Amino acid sequence: MAFKRHQINRRVIDDLKNRSTIGMYFYVLVTIAVLTVDGFYKKHISFSICFLSAMFIITFFRISHHYLFNKIDKKAPRLNFMAFFASVFATALTWGVGFAYFMIQPGELSSKIIMLASTVGLNSGGVVAFIPSWRTSALYSVFMLSPAAVTMYVLGIHLSLVVLIVLFILYMTMIAMRGNREYWDALENEHLLKLKSEEIEKISRVDVLTGLYNRRYFDEIFNIRWKTAIRESMLFTIIIADIDHFKLINDTYGHLAGDEYLKKIADVLSGIFQRDTDFITRYGGEEFVFLMQNIDNDSAIALAEKIRFEIGNLMLFHYNHKIHTTISMGISSCIPGLNDKKEDLFRKADNALYQAKNNGRNQVVFCNGDAKS
Ligand code: GH3
Ligand code: MG
Ligand code: MG
Repeated sequence: MAFKRHQINRRVIDDLKNRSTIGMYFYVLVTIAVLTVDGFYKKHISFSICFLSAMFIITFFRISHHYLFNKIDKKAPRLNFMAFFASVFATALTWGVGFAYFMIQPGELSSKIIMLASTVGLNSGGVVAFIPSWRTSALYSVFMLSPAAVTMYVLGIHLSLVVLIVLFILYMTMIAMRGNREYWDALENEHLLKLKSEEIEKISRVDVLTGLYNRRYFDEIFNIRWKTAIRESMLFTIIIADIDHFKLINDTYGHLAGDEYLKKIADVLSGIFQRDTDFITRYGGEEFVFLMQNIDNDSAIALAEKIRFEIGNLMLFHYNHKIHTTISMGISSCIPGLNDKKEDLFRKADNALYQAKNNGRNQVVFCNGDAKS
């Protein structure tokens, strides 16, 4: 999937939410702290009750929303997004109104200084938290700082502070834009790395010549499937196939012709196995192993006979020569129990293949013998 920069998706919302929720725990505490400086709340009792209640409600909402986010997201994702952004801007605006109230009071120097310092701190924290979306950062600053700036400007007080606030908003926005670029670079790198590691994982499972799964992946899958078969008391079947007199093809027509022929065989095999659960692997040079589940023995033998028939009819035209050979197979199956070993089942199929070779090749042998022999 292509990476789209600056597209606000679930991952970005999660980052915004996780980065900003930590700060929410501080808002109520800082509100209490600023209201108590020089007994400010005693002189402004109604404002203090409103400000503290509003900050408490918003904090409570945002923290609850953070923990309920996943549940709501399943039912109403759009509403969830909107609730998040609305509560973020409500936080900034509520604080912004409180900040404006403090700044327009006559006197109250200590309270104003503490409020100003708290606002700058909370705003910087918010801007950094919302870096995944620099517009959110910028709007956050505007909502938090502009009520005081506009009010002071209209009243004609603290005009140098108004200028400083405007500069601060610009500065914070530039920091947010810079951080935002780094955030998206990191996100893109993470995405590319994930794609690459998936690609490497895929390549490491596949045999380069035939495109079938390789021995390494076979070992992994054999183990997993075997455990599943034990758990679900499922019939588990292995077929081991080996091309007859393949060395002769190499010796007569050359290694490259042998490679071409192997590729053709792999194509034929891929066309024969139909079920999703069938697993075909190039186990070694010109040996193939097939794993199947829930297939009765007669059907497994019929399938092996089909392979034998199709490979027997396969012809590779190499310059003026017709390359052709046959295949031998050994089959074994069982419903594995906890005490059974997968290596024993594999050995049974291998013994059956050995028997097929000894009996004259181009045949399928089903093994019921003692696997441990
Ligand atoms: P048999 O009927 O007993 O199986 O006879 P065989 O000649 O097929 O004997 P064997 O299975 O022991 O020989 C395998 C040959 O396969 C030997 C090796 O040169 C050849 N081989 C293994 N891997 C490759 C490969 O990737 N490409 C080619 N062209 N040949 C390979
Ligand atoms: Mg061989
Ligand atoms: Mg062979």
